[in-house]
Amino acid sequence: MDPVIYENLKRIRFEVGEAKARYRKPEDTVRIMAVTKTVPYERVNTVIDDGITLLGENRVQEYLEKKDHYRSGAEVHFIGRLQTNKVKYIIDSVKLIHSLDSMKLAEEIDRQAAKKGICMDVLAEVNIGGEESKSGAPESEVRQLICEASQLKNIKIRGLMTIPPVGKSEESFEKMQRLFCDLRSDKPDNVDMDILSMGMSSDYALAVKYGSNIVRIGSGIFGSRK
Ligand SMILES: *Cc1c(COP(=O)(O)O)cnc(C)c1O
Repeated sequence: MDPVIYENLKRIRFEVGEAKARYRKPEDTVRIMAVTKTVPYERVNTVIDDGITLLGENRVQEYLEKKDHYRSGAEVHFIGRLQTNKVKYIIDSVKLIHSLDSMKLAEEIDRQAAKKGICMDVLAEVNIGGEESKSGAPESEVRQLICEASQLKNIKIRGLMTIPPVGKSEESFEKMQRLFCDLRSDKPDNVDMDILSMGMSSDYALAVKYGSNIVRIGSGIFGSRK
């Protein structure tokens, strides 16, 4: 085990635990995802050895090159921008797709999942800051996207994901928590609103405060990316 990674994980677990103890119900769980982009598989395996059970993948090609080298014991979620023509490469090895942002993508995930005879869990990604450069559906269109995508037989909406604008984490997380709770109380058919994926290296403790149950951490675990 790399001593730096070991210390990083120890600190992150401690801080997540503190935020949870302070702001959340005892029965809530918050999972720590290790985001693996640019990280060689050997280093990814050291965090699996240290008990991390959740990996986040951004890039299809990089994931395909690394996945057979990963130690067993961790589930993989796809968190990056997903082109429709790449869905077929990841459909049977990832457990959850965090980046659903259009019906075109929903239809392709549904089609590929049907071929494999599975139902794919997905999160609707929300562009909470309304930024041009960011992926995700605009906040005003998320409800519609969820309603339409939930009609597809081989997709199950499980919640929401976001990447907030730089410097606006707290207000964004607060908005997301409200949206998540509103959608949850709407109880749309065939939707389970139980996962809120938000918080990265710089703001994960804050995300826990506002109801996140998956924090996605890359550089905070593995060090800065080249
Ligand atoms: C890279 C990335 C992360 C992790 O970012 P860090 O700042 O390195 O923790 C989380 N979520 C997504 C979608 C990412 O692309």
